[in-house]
Parts: sequence; structure tokens; C-alpha cells
Amino acid sequence: MSGEKVIIKRVERYDTTAIQDFVYKAIKTLDIEPKPRAFIKPNLVQATRYAEHAYTHPEFLRGIFRGLRESGVAEQILYEDCGIAVPLRYVFRGSGYNRLCKDEGVRFLNLAEAVHDAWVKIDRGEIHDELPLPSELLRDGLHVYAPKLKVHSQTDITGSSKLMIGIIKRSVRLHRHHYDLGKKIVDAVFAYPPDLVLVDAVNIGINGVGCPDPVNLGALIAARNPVAADAVSAWLLGFDPAEIEHLRLASRRGLGPVDLTKIELINPDRVQPARPDQYKERKINGLNPHIRYFEGDVHDGKRCRGGCIGFVAESIHYLNHYHNWRKNEKVNFAASALFWLLGQLPSQERPRKLGVVVGDYKGDIPDEYRSNLVFVGDCTRAKDVKPRVHLKGCPVYMARQTFEFARHSGQLNPYLDVIEGLPFIRAFLEEKFMKAWNILTHPLRRNR
Ligand code: SF4
Repeated sequence: MSGEKVIIKRVERYDTTAIQDFVYKAIKTLDIEPKPRAFIKPNLVQATRYAEHAYTHPEFLRGIFRGLRESGVAEQILYEDCGIAVPLRYVFRGSGYNRLCKDEGVRFLNLAEAVHDAWVKIDRGEIHDELPLPSELLRDGLHVYAPKLKVHSQTDITGSSKLMIGIIKRSVRLHRHHYDLGKKIVDAVFAYPPDLVLVDAVNIGINGVGCPDPVNLGALIAARNPVAADAVSAWLLGFDPAEIEHLRLASRRGLGPVDLTKIELINPDRVQPARPDQYKERKINGLNPHIRYFEGDVHDGKRCRGGCIGFVAESIHYLNHYHNWRKNEKVNFAASALFWLLGQLPSQERPRKLGVVVGDYKGDIPDEYRSNLVFVGDCTRAKDVKPRVHLKGCPVYMARQTFEFARHSGQLNPYLDVIEGLPFIRAFLEEKFMKAWNILTHPLRRNR
């Protein structure tokens, strides 16, 4: 594919009318034929009071819903799954999407609870030959990707292609989510390619995808092609798109152009890119003053950034972010008492040095870390030291790492946050019930 158009528009804040207008005009400029139905995929990793910038902004989605409606799309279905070990209902409420969907008459398809009763074949799939999806997603309709643009510790950027990891059922989500993550992303896009990509780049997220810090880029991006949209997004963040592995692989497999000279850029407001290297990968040592990271070899010298390494970077940053956030938070007496009972008040924190090892580590480990080490991942080993705990898995997902790092480094644990706890538990129980209910009442089962 060449000559793909990508539109950039400057919009300084989440102005619903301006976003609606942008969507309506983008559909015309990109020659997209509206259909009576649209399936819209946002980016909803997590949503808590200390992670407000991890997901596609609700007002951006509102603008999309209205712009699509204005273009003739009557029925709209928002679908999503979130991070593993988190009930989707919990982040759906926390993000304000439940209220938004009610206001706008949009139906929500909860992928964490839906029955995945259909399989889609993947053309030349490298990690997956096919993926399970709810059959409802395969009905005729316009496929819209609505990612939030973020800098990502595993893939440099997360935009429209990386978005589709969320479509992969949780039971197979982590399968080869390691040094082959780029190939997995490309498979996921092949499974469910878009007709329209609309990127929320008004406030981008940096310093971690789970609880990023916002930076105002003040831009909206639209394209038909996900790789072209990502190439332009990467350029805006100061990256060379051709150096981003999943974009290079996607382009090689014919999904779209990564070469900016093959993209027709429509940028009337002259939105300028960031400085080169402004958002380059941060060193893991330096993300948290209490944790020292030791990285060994993984699989023939491949750096496993798409697996344990990227999740370690996220987890370590997450703990530091949570600590800083809680230090400045005022909570009421009841919450204070509950935090105190769990030993989770900032004044009760007693941090100690923790070493984290990934891969086959052959270097020395300083004495002060040798007695408090966590090994992460099936392939991890180091000579002459015994870890306190060896987290098994390939990869070990972020929630599990974060919990163990907090426990062994004596830092505040976001998973013991009493204010988030009750909504989390409620959503967890509802999710379990609804999953069982959906399986029991599924037509295939009833017709048996
Ligand atoms: S266990 Fe090893 S190969 Fe697997 S994701 Fe972790 S670091 Fe990568």
C-alpha cells in the first residue's frame, strides 16, 4: 500500500465539537463509506484515581460517536478488554466509559465476559494461525480503531497496531508475548484490520503505559491504514518509524507503509514532531531508588523487551509513581484507618534494597542485593545466588511482578489500595458471575 493519507489536526484540548467535526471531515477526506453499524476499539489499559491518562479520553470517544452518527452510522458498539488480572468492569467504570456509553446510546461489548465463539484465520500468521473472537464482532460494520498515543516500554510507541493486543483473549494473550511481540502485534492487526483509525494525541502518555504522565501534544490523527497512522505518530514523538520493530514487520508483511515518503501527510496546522530521542527508552535503573535491575542474556542475545524486561520497567515505574501519588494525597479518616491496618500509609513505608534479575545473568551482584533478589521469568538464572522468589512464566505479567516487588522492597502496594479495593472486588465478582452466565445462556449451548 502506498500513498496512504494521514491527517493531523491541531486541537489543544478535548473539545467534543472539534473532535466530532474532525471525524466527520476525515471520513469524507479519506473516502470512507460509512456503514449502518460501527465497532470501535479504544485503549483501556487501566483506570484508577492515580492512572487517569492510561486510556483513550472519554471526550475523544464522545466526539467519535457523534462524528460517526453525523456520517450516518446508527448503531455503535464499543468493545475492549484490559490488562490481565484486572476486571474490565472496574476500569470501564473508573474511566467514565459506562456513563459515556449510556449518554450516547452506545452498546459496550465486554470482551472479558463475552463468549469467544468464532475463530478468525490469520493470513501468514507467525505467532497465531487463528484467534478466537465473539461472533458479534464479525457482523458487517465499520471497524474503527481509537487508540491513545503513548510511549511504551516494550514497543517504543503504542498506537493503532499495539492496540490490537487487547483483542486477544486473555487465555492466549501472553503466548509468546516476549521477544516476538512485534510478530504477535502484526498477527492481531491481520485478525481484525480497521477501516478507520482515529488517534487520541491531544494528551499523550509518557513514562509508563499503566500510569503515564500526560504531555499535551494537542493533535488528532486520522488514517485508513494502521501502519501509516503509527508511522506518523512515531514521527510526531521523535522516533524513526523504520526503527520500530512492529511497524517494520507490519510493513514487510504488506500491512502498510512505514516510510514517511510513501505517506501523503495532510497537516494544515503544521504540527511539529518532538526532538529525536526526546522519548527514547529510559534506563530501568533509575526508575525506582529502591530497586536495582540486573539484565542477563535471553534467547540468543535477543533483548526480551516485549516480555519480562518491558514488564519489569513498567512495574518498577508503577511502584514509584504510586508512592509519589500517595504521598500527596489527602484521604478521609475511614480510608486512613484501613490503610493503617494494612500497613499501607506512606508514613508506614519501610523500603529496603531489592535486586531484580531477568535472563541468564553472569555478572556480579553486589552484597547489599544478594539477600533480597527476585528472579523474573522461566529463563532467568544467576550463579552463586539464591533468590527469595523466582517468578515463573514466559513472560511474567506486570500485576504479578508489581505485587512481589512491592512485598519484597517494602514499598506501598497499589494492589492493597483500600479506596480502589471495594470497586475492584465488586467488579471481580460480577465478572465471574457474568462469564458463567454468558456461557450457560449462549445459543450454541441452548441449542445442543
Ligand atoms: S521468561 Fe525469558 S524469554 Fe520468556 S518473556 Fe521472560 S525474559 Fe523473555
